[in-house]
Amino acid sequence: MRIQILGSAAGGRFPQWNCGCGNCIAVRANEFSGKARTQAQLALSADGVTWFLAGASPDLAFQIESSPALHPRALRDSPIAGVVLASADLDHVVGLLLLRELQPLRVYAAPSILRILREENSMFGMLNRVEPQVVWTPMTSGASFPFLCADGKDSGLRCEVQYLSGRYPKYVKSKDLTRNEATAALFFESAAGERVAYVPAVGSLSDALLEKIGHANLLLFDGTFWSDDELIRVQGSGQTALQMGHIPVESTLVKLAGVRRPRKIFLHINNTNPMLDEASPQNREVRRAGWEIAEDGWQFNL
Ligand SMILES: [Zn+2]
Repeated sequence: MRIQILGSAAGGRFPQWNCGCGNCIAVRANEFSGKARTQAQLALSADGVTWFLAGASPDLAFQIESSPALHPRALRDSPIAGVVLASADLDHVVGLLLLRELQPLRVYAAPSILRILREENSMFGMLNRVEPQVVWTPMTSGASFPFLCADGKDSGLRCEVQYLSGRYPKYVKSKDLTRNEATAALFFESAAGERVAYVPAVGSLSDALLEKIGHANLLLFDGTFWSDDELIRVQGSGQTALQMGHIPVESTLVKLAGVRRPRKIFLHINNTNPMLDEASPQNREVRRAGWEIAEDGWQFNL
């Protein structure tokens, strides 16, 4: 299985257009020990020919151009066969609108998220102007399912979803949505049995989630905030990390200390997170604990 991290920042990217925090100022001035990052975006493939996206970030057009494997091979063509969604957050779904140029695609998402996109937000109707265009596939938790190529052939990759407790984004109007479908952990598996756990936003750890993570070869985990009060410290007010549905990294280092099997990588990193600074004590602490901090452009062959 091939994995590309096309983007590693949380919503807003790094630097964020309206942010003057210490990190954003330093990276704009080229005085930062660390890299700028686009919004979290993953691409994966069983054969290096047909690719699936996890999420569709607002930076997707740029991210596709930055990755030769995702470029068209003919006049109207894309190696991208589908998109799987872990949430309806804007930084996870806005990129779908950038894929509207009449390309056949499959979108896999929770039934509630399909309802939000297709019934509450008429703009996504642009993805169904012609036949064939986007095929929407509801994901149910527990049983794994194959990612299909645009022509219906099995891609060789399977996905399993585990729904996490979480909240729907503020733009969602429907009141009767299934609550536990708001956020998902995604587990990808190749025919040879290599497993990737993708958990870009998680507010609490269940035993079931820990068990699945422990069986993965590669873990890509919520690295949004270093501490629970990070945004309040930077802005003077606001919500805590946990209130926003993110376990802070300093807690994750403790709670996942016993998880030994997978290579452990933080991604979905907010621009305020001090661990982005490679000269910071927080960055050292992460690396000492055996974790890595994702950068745009990282690729893995499992
Ligand atoms: Zn900032």
